[in-house]
Amino acid sequence: MVLNEITKHPRIVIVGGGFGGLELAKSLKKFDGEVLLIDRHNYHIFQPLLYQVATGSIQAESIVFPLRKIFHNQDNVTFVYSNVLSVNAASNTITTTDGEVNYDYLVLATGSDTNFFGNKEIEHYAMPMKNVTEALNIRSLILQNLEVAFLEKDPDKKQALLNFVIVGGGPTGVELSGAIAEFRNHVLHKDYPEQKEANMKVYLVEGKTELLAAMSTEASVNAKKNLLEMGVEIYNDVHVKSYDGELLMIDNGTNI
Ligand SMILES: Cc1cc2nc3c(=O)[nH]c(=O)nc-3n(C[C@H](O)[C@H](O)[C@H](O)COP(=O)(O)OP(=O)(O)OC[C@H]3O[C@@H](n4cnc5c(N)ncnc54)[C@H](O)[C@@H]3O)c2cc1C
Repeated sequence: MVLNEITKHPRIVIVGGGFGGLELAKSLKKFDGEVLLIDRHNYHIFQPLLYQVATGSIQAESIVFPLRKIFHNQDNVTFVYSNVLSVNAASNTITTTDGEVNYDYLVLATGSDTNFFGNKEIEHYAMPMKNVTEALNIRSLILQNLEVAFLEKDPDKKQALLNFVIVGGGPTGVELSGAIAEFRNHVLHKDYPEQKEANMKVYLVEGKTELLAAMSTEASVNAKKNLLEMGVEIYNDVHVKSYDGELLMIDNGTNI
C-alpha cells in the first residue's frame, strides 16, 4: 500500500482504533470514499477488563480483538499498523513511522494517558494501567513479589513485598484493589500456602472524601463498604506526597 497516494477521495484518516475510532469507522460503512484507520497496535483493547488481566483472572487474549478482523465486511476501511508522530495541517498530511500519509479529513482518536499530576518521581516508579503491556507488568509484579517474599528472611522487607498500594479511588482503582483483595482472599492460600493472607495488604488511597466521587452516593457508599469487607485498607481525603520506589509517603503522615 502506498500511504501518500489517495485511491478514492475523500480520504478520512482516523488515528486510533479504540472505542472512539472504531465507532466512527463502523458508522462510515456507507461512506463513498476511503477510510484509513491507523493504530500503533494491530488490535483493539477492551480497557474495562484490564484490571482482570492485571490480577490474572483472565488472559490478555480475552480482551484484545484484531482490528483487521473487525472490518472484514467493510471494504472502504483499510487498516494501517503504524505510529503517528505529527500532524502537518498546512499540507493535509501526517507523519508516521512508516512515512507521510495524505488526508482530506483527519480524526485524532488517540485516547488519553495516565495523569501523574506533574509528579515525576511517581511517574518514574508507579505502574500505570492503560494498555495490555502495563496490565501484564502489574500481574508479573504481583506474582514476582509473592515469589521473592517466600524466600525473604527480613520481616520488614518481606512485608514491603506484600504491600500493594493503589492510588486513585475512581472506577479503575476500586476494581483493581477489589480484584487484588479477591486474589489475596481466595487464591493466595492455594498457590502460596506458606503466605499468611493477613500479611498481604491492599491499600487504596484517594484524595477525595469518598470513592467513585463521579458516581452516585449509593455506588460510592457500597463500593467502600464492600472493599472494607474484603479487607482493603482505604485512605480517603489524603494525597500521596512521594514514592521513591520503596517508601510511599501520604500527607496525613502515613508511610507505607
Ligand atoms: C483500566 C480502565 C478501565 C476502564 N473502565 C471503563 C468502564 O468500565 N466503562 C467505561 O465506559 N469506560 C471505561 N474506561 C474508559 C474507556 O476505556 C475509555 O474512555 C475509552 O477507551 C476511550 O476511547 P478512545 O477511543 O478515546 O481511546 P482509546 O481506547 O485509548 O484508544 C486510543 C487508540 O489510539 C491508539 N494510539 C494512540 N496514540 C497513537 C499514535 N500516536 N499513533 C497510532 N495510534 C495511536 C492507541 O493504540 C489506541 O488503540 C476504562 C479505562 C481504563 C484505562
